[in-house]
Amino acid sequence: KLKNAHQPEFLQAVEEIFLSLIPVFEQHPEYIQHNILSRIVEPDRIVSFRVTWVDDQNQVQVNRGYRVQFNNVVGPYKGGLRFHPTVNESIMKFLAFEQIFKNSLTGLPIGGGKGGSDFNPKGKSNAEIMRFCQSFMTELYRHIGPDVDVPAGDIGVGGREIGYLFGQYKRIRGAHEAGVLTGKLPGYGGSLVRKEATGYGLVYFVEEMLRDNNQSFLNKKVVVSGSGNVAIYAIEKAQHLGAKVVACSDSNGYIYDPDGIDVKVVKEIKEVKGERIKTYVDYRTNATYTEDFLGIWSIPCDIALPCATQNEINGDAARTLVSNGVKIVAEGANMPSNLEAINVFLENGVLFGPAKAANAGGVATSALEMAQNSGRNYWSFNKVDEKLHEIMRSIYIESKEAAQKYGTPGNLVVGSNIAGFVKVANGMISEGVY
Ligand code: NDP
Repeated sequence: KLKNAHQPEFLQAVEEIFLSLIPVFEQHPEYIQHNILSRIVEPDRIVSFRVTWVDDQNQVQVNRGYRVQFNNVVGPYKGGLRFHPTVNESIMKFLAFEQIFKNSLTGLPIGGGKGGSDFNPKGKSNAEIMRFCQSFMTELYRHIGPDVDVPAGDIGVGGREIGYLFGQYKRIRGAHEAGVLTGKLPGYGGSLVRKEATGYGLVYFVEEMLRDNNQSFLNKKVVVSGSGNVAIYAIEKAQHLGAKVVACSDSNGYIYDPDGIDVKVVKEIKEVKGERIKTYVDYRTNATYTEDFLGIWSIPCDIALPCATQNEINGDAARTLVSNGVKIVAEGANMPSNLEAINVFLENGVLFGPAKAANAGGVATSALEMAQNSGRNYWSFNKVDEKLHEIMRSIYIESKEAAQKYGTPGNLVVGSNIAGFVKVANGMISEGVY
């Protein structure tokens, strides 16, 4: 704690996982003997670098880039790149640390990493985005590779940015190593379903939670925060399964549509025009906009799917959701609920799907993209979607069984942390001390 005192998000993520692991250590003294906890919280390496680029006014701009290569016991480092002004070493480390266990949970051979920059893509021209991505990759390329470290997208990094990053990597390396990045667009190595995967996967996971309680999405009232990649495809799939999604948001405010969100309009605003979510009310007469991003949690719903960013649900927001009758909360974003909020949900009988299990569909499909790249072929939409569905089902079952085995039945926070951890810890012991 002292060593990382200046990294609150990282400490928060470690604390959440370590608290879950107490029963594992009681049953497995070998993990203590091999000092697994001290080893697992220390990243293999952190690369931090200057990114210099020229804006449209010919001014030289400087940002900081990061890549945290946390743990490659299970497979090559794998995790997204985030471009957002809030990016710092603590955020990168918390995301990379979580990624180790999430990736292990998918059952696929991928280790944990994360990267990004404090670059703010908002308001930048296409040419500025391209120049930034090229400069970022001019340093990053020497640290990554299809068998070494495979970055992907995250907040502020979508198909366009991955394309520019990949183009620059290829230019420097002089080789079309498709497996070096995932989230590529279909046509030059990207996988079908990758764009939809995190949102769809989240809904598949919640479907399992509902099924276990003899319920379904049919006629459930759902609130989804965010209106980015994860949020849009969570809305789409939940509606496809019969739910009524009534609200979504961006970092300025939220929209409420009593008739159910028109996801085509959200796609038009966000994916085509790149505008703010408040313009939704120009398309739908019954919809309202409120300039308060966190106010979205005051809308009564059966299911809440936080899909924007970390720490967007605090204790008060959780209590409001509970008093309004929420039955299920499942995390599309990474660490959207703080520890107090999670405890409020668990103590009040809310079924809670933690991020590392519920949003693992994105990285799982990235691993399927890597498999297609290695096999030099493409799979159909249905084949990838079926595999994604199967992976989410097995993550649910594994997390549930681990929770039962270690004495906290129904607690998927504990279950997913343990299921993810045990595979990595056993691998660390097998691979020896280094
Ligand atoms: P996008 O950039 O596509 O969308 C992010 C959304 O969240 C936007 O609506 C954005 O609003 C809002 N948002 C971002 N930062 C903040 C903030 N500080 N406060 C309030 N709102 C904010 O990102 P993704 O949809 O890809 O990612 C969303 C979350 O899901 C992140 O936590 C990410 O780590 C996680 N995730 C993503 C995966 C993926 O495959 N994309 C995989 C697994 C997890 P605005 O437009 O105003 O910035």
